[in-house]
Amino acid sequence: SRKPIVGGNWKCNPAKLADAKALVEAWKEKGFDKEKVDVVIAPTALHLGHVKTPLEGLGMAVCAQNVGKNDMGAFTGEWTAAHLQDMEVGYTLIGHSERRSKYGETDEDTALKVEKCQEAGLKVIFCIGELLEERESGKTDEVNKRQLAAIIPKVKNWDLIVWFGRCGVDRGKLGLHERLFTVIAYEPVWAIGTGKVATPDQAEETQAAIRAYLKEAVSAEVADKVRIQYGGSVTPENCKELITKPNIDGFLVGGASLKPSFMEIVTAVQ
Ligand code: 13P
Repeated sequence: SRKPIVGGNWKCNPAKLADAKALVEAWKEKGFDKEKVDVVIAPTALHLGHVKTPLEGLGMAVCAQNVGKNDMGAFTGEWTAAHLQDMEVGYTLIGHSERRSKYGETDEDTALKVEKCQEAGLKVIFCIGELLEERESGKTDEVNKRQLAAIIPKVKNWDLIVWFGRCGVDRGKLGLHERLFTVIAYEPVWAIGTGKVATPDQAEETQAAIRAYLKEAVSAEVADKVRIQYGGSVTPENCKELITKPNIDGFLVGGASLKPSFMEIVTAVQ
């Protein structure tokens, strides 16, 4: 069985570092069982380094919201997977719908980014999902497959064991190795920030199709092990029924991850 994983994507929030720190402080009161659920938080790039230690103190991991497709060099405004690895940030989101729709990120861009992360030994939460008109015209599975097909050739090993020694990270500090499982976040664009959550049946049906595609395009073992999160207007109220579905392995939470009650979502899945 797959260990659930809950992500908090803070997007371009909160306005002040003090508010970010206060939120993490508020989460402390609740606590969760890290043996039962992985929790990964993606603050803004500027806040990330400042909240990393307190988040890790709670047993949560930190995550970037984006990563460059480029190498080191003359790429103003960018950072690389190798930078994240060096800063001991173990995860990044790739392909979030806001990157795709607001910053013109293509399937090809996401593939290059995934490739860089594989080289650097960085875990990826890969975001996919259809627009409203695509769902209404029956293209949901086709869109998800297309977005996944772009990265599949780049994932050399879905269960890559990353030897930190080889990656230049201090072995003593992080342990000898860690399994690098790519996580998929299914986020229907029409459900993001709209308050219009997918029904448990809609999310389950689509996520089962994503898993079936992974079985066909990669292998039965990978399809069985890869965790698929649901994202889009998840709240402490609606998460309880969603998590009962067999192909929903956790959530990627936007707005509701900026509140103390985010911990109710974390504890609901554990
Ligand atoms: P909301 O939870 O605010 O709908 O955002 C979802 C999301 O985009 C997480 O990445």
